[in-house]
Amino acid sequence: EKNYMKLEFLSKSNNESFARVVVAAFASQLDPTLEELSDIKTAVSEAVTNAIIHGYEYGQGLVIVESKIEDNEIEIIVEDKGMGIPDIVKAREPFYTSKPNMERSGMGFTVMETFMDSLQVESIKGQGTKVKMTK
Ligand code: ATP
Ligand code: MG
Repeated sequence: EKNYMKLEFLSKSNNESFARVVVAAFASQLDPTLEELSDIKTAVSEAVTNAIIHGYEYGQGLVIVESKIEDNEIEIIVEDKGMGIPDIVKAREPFYTSKPNMERSGMGFTVMETFMDSLQVESIKGQGTKVKMTK
């Protein structure tokens, strides 16, 4: 059966675990395996962390998480209205990070891509970023 939810919260780092737990609870109605659920949590965590630390690097804003369930598939959208990504192709490359001196490994998008079935990234400089994933 179809289902939908939307979550909005301030870009504070302690809200990352909040979003991860909410999406996991929403996803659990699909009766996922523990591994599938763990994959979803990891991907959400990476996307939300990116919105908080990169999207809103210069001040706080709202992070929007939407999720849709349909035909035994879950779609998750993580959106911020922050600074945007200047070069998406480069940003998605393994090990690329714009913050190499801040103990980031540049593997967030690679992790999302590996743990989910599809990953779409849309971004407009100065307007924000939207990451859409399905599994
Ligand atoms: P890690 O995720 O391993 O800690 P990282 O966040 O730098 O490191 P990715 O998650 O793969 O690596 O992201 C790559 C780069 O894309 C980031 O360094 C950042 O420059 C850019 N980026 C990612 N998400 C956003 C976003 N929501 N807004 C602005 N820039 C972003
Ligand atoms: Mg990241």
